[in-house]
Amino acid sequence: MRRQRFICKSCESNSDGYGGGMYCERCYMEADKIKVQLMGENEELKDKIEFLKLCSPSPTTSSTTSLAGSFSDVVLIALDSEPPLPVQAHKAVLVNRSPVFRAMLENEEMEESRSGTVKIADVRYDALQAFVNYLYTAETCLNQNLACDLLILAEKYQVQHLKHYCQKFLVSKLNWDNALTTYTFACCHNAEDIMDAALEVITDNMDKLTTQLEYVNLVEKDPQLVIKIYETYLSKQVNTAACRNPSVRRDSSSGSGIGDGGGWSDGC
Ligand SMILES: [Zn+2]
Repeated sequence: MRRQRFICKSCESNSDGYGGGMYCERCYMEADKIKVQLMGENEELKDKIEFLKLCSPSPTTSSTTSLAGSFSDVVLIALDSEPPLPVQAHKAVLVNRSPVFRAMLENEEMEESRSGTVKIADVRYDALQAFVNYLYTAETCLNQNLACDLLILAEKYQVQHLKHYCQKFLVSKLNWDNALTTYTFACCHNAEDIMDAALEVITDNMDKLTTQLEYVNLVEKDPQLVIKIYETYLSKQVNTAACRNPSVRRDSSSGSGIGDGGGWSDGC
C-alpha cells in the first residue's frame, strides 16, 4: 500500500505530512523552533511588564533623564567620579524595584532616608546612570564592561530582573579566552547562570587550562575556585562515561574509568 503524500504548505515540496498533513518535516521543525523562541520572548516581556508595573510615577515625558529629574526626591552619588556626580531619582521607583533601597529609604533611622542622598562607592557615574535608567525603563544598551558594572549593582541592590538580563548578556559573550576571568567574576558576585556556563566552557577545554595566565593567578588567589573546576570536570567525565557505558560506575574498579588515559571512550 502506498503511503499518502502531501505538499508542504510552506516550501511546496513533497512531504510525509507533519503537523496534520500541512508541512514537510523540515518546515514543521523550523516552525516548532520559532514557536519555542517566541514563547521565550513572550516570557521575557511578561517579566519586564511585571518589573515595570510596580507603582511608577506617571511619566510626563518620554525622556528618562528628565523623567527621573522632574520632582525627584532622592539623589544617588557615584563617589568614584571626580568630582562625585549626582543622579536624580524618585524614592517611589527605587523602593519598588529594590528591597535594599526600600530598607534604606523607608527607615527614618537611616542617614540615606533622612538626607535623601545615597552615596555609592566603587561605581562609575555612567554605570550608575544606566542603573537608574534601567529601574525606570527595564532597558539598557549593554557592552561587557557595563554588563559587569550593572550586575554588581543589581546584586548589591537585589534587582533580580537586571541581574538576569546582565547574566544572559555575559553568557552570550563567553568564549575560551574570557571564560576564566568571567568565571572568577561570576563567583565573586553570586552569578550562578554565568558560573555554570563558564564552567562548561572551561571543562570543555581542560587540556588548555593551565596555559592561561589567569589560571596561575586563580591558583594563588582563590584555590577553592580551582578545586570547583576540577570537581565539575570529574563529575562531567563520570557522567559521560556512565552514558557511553552503563557498566562504568562512579566507584568503577575495572580499570576502565577516569585516569587511565580515556580508553573507555572507544568502541562504546
Ligand atoms: Zn516544507
